[in-house]
Amino acid sequence: MSTIPAFSFTTVSSLVSEPGAASRLGQLVAERFPGVRRILIVTDAGFLRTGLVETPRLSLEQQGMHVAVFSEVVADPPEDVVLTAVEFARDHDTELVIGLGGGSSMDVAKLVAVLANNTQALQQMYGIGKVTGQRLPLIQVPTTAGTGSEVTNIAIVTTGETTKMGVVSPQLYADVAVLDAALTLGLPPVVTAATGIDAMVHAIEAYTSKHKKNPLSDMLAKQALSLLSANLVKACENGRDLAVRQAMLLGACLAGQAFSNAPVAAVHALAYPIGGIYHVAHGLSNSLVLPHVLRFNLPQAAGHYAELAGIVVPHASGSEEARAQALIVAMQQIAKITGIETTLQQVGITEQDLDRLADDAMLQTRLLGNNPREVTREDARAIYAAAL
Ligand SMILES: [Zn+2]
Repeated sequence: MSTIPAFSFTTVSSLVSEPGAASRLGQLVAERFPGVRRILIVTDAGFLRTGLVETPRLSLEQQGMHVAVFSEVVADPPEDVVLTAVEFARDHDTELVIGLGGGSSMDVAKLVAVLANNTQALQQMYGIGKVTGQRLPLIQVPTTAGTGSEVTNIAIVTTGETTKMGVVSPQLYADVAVLDAALTLGLPPVVTAATGIDAMVHAIEAYTSKHKKNPLSDMLAKQALSLLSANLVKACENGRDLAVRQAMLLGACLAGQAFSNAPVAAVHALAYPIGGIYHVAHGLSNSLVLPHVLRFNLPQAAGHYAELAGIVVPHASGSEEARAQALIVAMQQIAKITGIETTLQQVGITEQDLDRLADDAMLQTRLLGNNPREVTREDARAIYAAAL
């Protein structure tokens, strides 16, 4: 029997998975944070327009709480949005922050919680373990099943035209993550597909993470893939099925817990430049390069991929290599069935762009270091060429 490698594992301290839970958010807050009266909800304008903020807001107000809503979060939030949100939180004497939205809203909520009653500047927090102070109580309520941001300790901020910085710190783990699929019923199929595939990538990359793979993240990754692979296409075909949506939300959350401890790798490293330069959404960027990175990784990762094939394509048989290939084909099939773009050309990328993409991907050293197989610049370019 092989020795279990030393590892550590951290996640949020409390998780509530329950359709309709957002409608009793006030009760959840009152139970866990008695005496807290002034709440800030961080969201984006699009989600505010759906009207779905009203039920949790009302539930908080019914507990006698004062609720302020900051709805200026945008995708890939720049520094000034974060700082505006912090000012807003201070102006309202915020005692507790609720992130209600996709990854961007939850990332901004994390930063508001650590910045609002802290003298440390945002710029001093970039990097790993740089946050010095304590944060305000923080609750995360995702409205997409993808990023897993509700259970991760990272927040990404856009600092320049295409550059991004990350704050990674234990304080960014929320006190409570609330998974309520009722908030995700209206997501269009293409968003459901891309964010769902992103969550599957989190599980796959966590399972093959080079240095921090561990038994807990493995268990979570497998359960996440089981839920996501069984429900993703169904969620795209019938977005109003609450049970299917709840399974997706839980799958994405478990994958988030897995990759927060066994980090993602080359799929994300190669996806980031596609998002940064061409403003392709995160989930779709990952989906576009996924099969080609997995194929590149086969010499080192076929064994692990074959194990995951047992979950995603249970009927797969034959050699380890054949089962690993079956996993890759299955992931391509999901993208195809759901109708999202499958080639770089479909999102406007041409042969001339490949060098710049490869150069930018090589800057993602933190992610590339987690990949089961070493990626050179030539490899990165070849993977993009295959994905063209
Ligand atoms: Zn991702």
